[in-house]
Amino acid sequence: MLAALYEKPHKLSVLKKEIPRLMKDEVLIKVDACGVCGTDLHIVEGRSRSTPPVVLGHEFNGTIYDSGGTNGSFAEGQRVAIDPNISCNTCYYCRRGLMHLCENLKAVGVDIDGGMAEFCAVPARQLYPLPHDLTPEQSVFIEPVSCIIHGIDRARVSVGDTAVIIGGGTIGLMMLSLLRNAGASKIVLIEPVAFKRDIAEKLGADVALNPLRDNVHEAIFDLTRVGADLVFECAGTSATAKQSLEYVRRGGIVEFFGVCPIGETIPVEPNNIFVNELTIMGSFINPHTFSRAIHVLSSGIVEIDKLVIHTYKLENIHAAMKSMREGETIKNIVFT
Ligand SMILES: [Zn+2]
Ligand SMILES: [Zn+2]
Repeated sequence: MLAALYEKPHKLSVLKKEIPRLMKDEVLIKVDACGVCGTDLHIVEGRSRSTPPVVLGHEFNGTIYDSGGTNGSFAEGQRVAIDPNISCNTCYYCRRGLMHLCENLKAVGVDIDGGMAEFCAVPARQLYPLPHDLTPEQSVFIEPVSCIIHGIDRARVSVGDTAVIIGGGTIGLMMLSLLRNAGASKIVLIEPVAFKRDIAEKLGADVALNPLRDNVHEAIFDLTRVGADLVFECAGTSATAKQSLEYVRRGGIVEFFGVCPIGETIPVEPNNIFVNELTIMGSFINPHTFSRAIHVLSSGIVEIDKLVIHTYKLENIHAAMKSMREGETIKNIVFT
């Protein structure tokens, strides 16, 4: 079968590989579509904990090709989405219900072979049946939406809250739609790329600001007077992480959602956090939110038809990654 294998930093190869053999409780998936994510770019650049060689692809769905030894709980021919995050169920965190913080967490497409291939073997407990109304292309968004739902749960959004989103990529834009639906009253999105700001406005942002041109701080305080109730950092840079602390109101919440490179730091003034009673939190992956993400996409709450989506054959993965790196697209999807 054809697969996109991360061989070593800066080397991703499309090559022939053997169809994976099933282990106990595993199912063989014929992959229908797989999203290319910022995380994949980080991995190939050697800026992640992923250890090569590994087939990339963690945002994928497909059709069950061989249901293996799963006692008929899944039928061959059934379409499914795959939650890529596999927890051990026995460590301290798993037993406290914090599966996403599992000490032995493994992610399909990061630590073990993933969905940028014709076939992928995954444990049956990672599978979620897909409703008929979701296409393979739409279903690629289930995994990122499941992470955003966790981020929104963590921030305890209240109806009427004001929000700032830094970054208008896939995550920032879908976060915007979900925050709007969660009852946010005013939403400011900050993004330097013009076509992404246009999409943000179509999705209902009150203001989409260009940080290279606009006085972002002034605009946020003009709109909210006191600063935003909630600030979501979805760009994943230390510069924007630092700025996020400047846009929040007293008693507000700053959530680090974007993936900042490991080792990067920002200066923080503890007195600012103390006097202003700030809550600074992270949001990591998607505990217990995968089913809700499927419901969200079926319902049309996230208008993915307004995003810019391109599809590529798997053999053209390098072109798909290049256009992501250069910010020309919102989401690229590969299929074999
Ligand atoms: Zn991803
Ligand atoms: Zn565990």
